[in-house]
Amino acid sequence: MENSVGGAMRPGLRKSSRIAILGAGVCGMLMAYRIKEAGFENFVVYEKDDAIGGTWKRHNYPGLCCDVHSHVYSYSFDRNPYWSKMYPERDELLAYFTEFGKKHELMEHVRLSTEVTTATYDEAQGEWTLTIAGSERTETFDYLIAATGFYNEASLPKIRGRERFKGASFHSSHWQQNIDLKGKRVGIVGTAAAAVQIVPAIYPEVGELKIFQRTPSWIVPRNNVVYSEEQQREFAQDTDSWRKHRDELYEFSKAFLDSVSGNPEKLEELRSVCLAYLQEQIADPVLRAKLTPDFDPGCKRLLITGDYYKTVANSNVDIVTDSIESMDESGIVTGDGTHHDLDVVIWCTGYKMPNYHGPVHTTGLDGKALEDVWSDLPQAFRSVSVPGFPNYFMVNGPNGIFGHSSAIHSAEISTEYIIRLIEAAEEMELKSINVRQDVFKEYNKSVQEYFKDTTFNGNCDSFYHDEKHRVWFFYPGDHIAMETELRSTTLEDFDVVR
Ligand SMILES: Cc1cc2nc3c(=O)[nH]c(=O)nc-3n(C[C@H](O)[C@H](O)[C@H](O)COP(=O)(O)OP(=O)(O)OC[C@H]3O[C@@H](n4cnc5c(N)ncnc54)[C@H](O)[C@@H]3O)c2cc1C
Repeated sequence: MENSVGGAMRPGLRKSSRIAILGAGVCGMLMAYRIKEAGFENFVVYEKDDAIGGTWKRHNYPGLCCDVHSHVYSYSFDRNPYWSKMYPERDELLAYFTEFGKKHELMEHVRLSTEVTTATYDEAQGEWTLTIAGSERTETFDYLIAATGFYNEASLPKIRGRERFKGASFHSSHWQQNIDLKGKRVGIVGTAAAAVQIVPAIYPEVGELKIFQRTPSWIVPRNNVVYSEEQQREFAQDTDSWRKHRDELYEFSKAFLDSVSGNPEKLEELRSVCLAYLQEQIADPVLRAKLTPDFDPGCKRLLITGDYYKTVANSNVDIVTDSIESMDESGIVTGDGTHHDLDVVIWCTGYKMPNYHGPVHTTGLDGKALEDVWSDLPQAFRSVSVPGFPNYFMVNGPNGIFGHSSAIHSAEISTEYIIRLIEAAEEMELKSINVRQDVFKEYNKSVQEYFKDTTFNGNCDSFYHDEKHRVWFFYPGDHIAMETELRSTTLEDFDVVR
């Protein structure tokens, strides 16, 4: 790979078309790379934060680590043979993504600290108009691509008296970097992805830990292998060896998808792996019972960690399963009437979901707002387009990411598709393309059909699906299915305007 993107434009295309990307996370920057690679020059990436990296810039809690292998959670065309570990930690990931923006000369297109508040389609002009927070000016574009991610807003439970608590209290996504936890009585609310990383990381410092658990999570052990210098050299010198390793890692995660895709035997195998790990780590049967989920593995996010169970088995850690009733100045009161005295409360309670468009109020044809169109269920055609929103695309939109692999993997496929759509529209000198309602409807029928017998739609209360058990989060299939589907690009799926 060269150090900057090539930029050859096919003859007949309008190089000057204006393209806006919302968000400079790993997907927005990937989109920017693809646009530049395709030869478009007139594009802007809006980012409300003061640096690129998205999730990996914004979050910085102790123990933050990716649960997808480093060689898979990185761009396939931008090989990094020097990952230090099999599962990358936050700083190393952020350094990789920051370098990506610089070396491909994308930063000149990025406007940092610039929050887009509204995006409005003008049918007569065939343009998207953006407004920016704190600015009077509006800016117009021919194409709008949302890469605003899906974890946009922290979710805090409604608890009576929460505001009365006098100690430090913050969400995992707003970690207080100067917090001193030494010897403190710390309450962790929630036991999912953030909690299982934070608990072992802060344990050596704290005096006492109370973990308020509504539902235990299924956990598989993580062995975070450190790559030797010799392995790194080999990956650097021998592309085939690197690719083989990457493929093996992918196949490893694909086994998870097989387990949750309606194959009872494989699901039981996965359950046995999790239960064996729990049994091996937790000797106390009472604690083990508390930590055993009553739903199928994969119904909620399967967690990967090597040290959570070990940590919660310590005598100064308490798993509290009584529900939280209220809070007061000095702690949390649970349903059994116990007052838990605490100095610090850390909310590991996830994000408001679904929330694809984040704070951007997006209005398409006939003044229809995207949040209204999605009030029943967020849906898209191939995760990318929504009828009534011409020349609007999403990276990793509804049903866009894989349940078993990297969000970058799916974004590589969808960004290629978006580029092909734009190129096709440009080649035909179209004013707009707008996915057909019947195509969209038929597509989403097949999506829900796929999920009918999968564990993603299973016997638990999960954000993967709505109350009618319609799955909106994951792509219906593996990367081969997605590649096959999205590579068949045709404007016949779209209403077009010249
Ligand atoms: C704590 C945490 C851990 C995670 N761990 C994993 C993991 O282990 N494995 C995995 O596969 N995935 C993980 N994820 C999911 C992760 O978000 C995705 O893998 C990936 O980073 C999504 O990238 P993105 O670019 O789509 O979105 P984001 O990374 O969310 O980036 C979106 C960007 O858009 C910007 N933005 C939003 N609204 C606006 C606006 N109105 N104007 C301008 N800019 C805007 C945001 O500031 C942000 O920079 C994790 C997420 C979190 C929060």
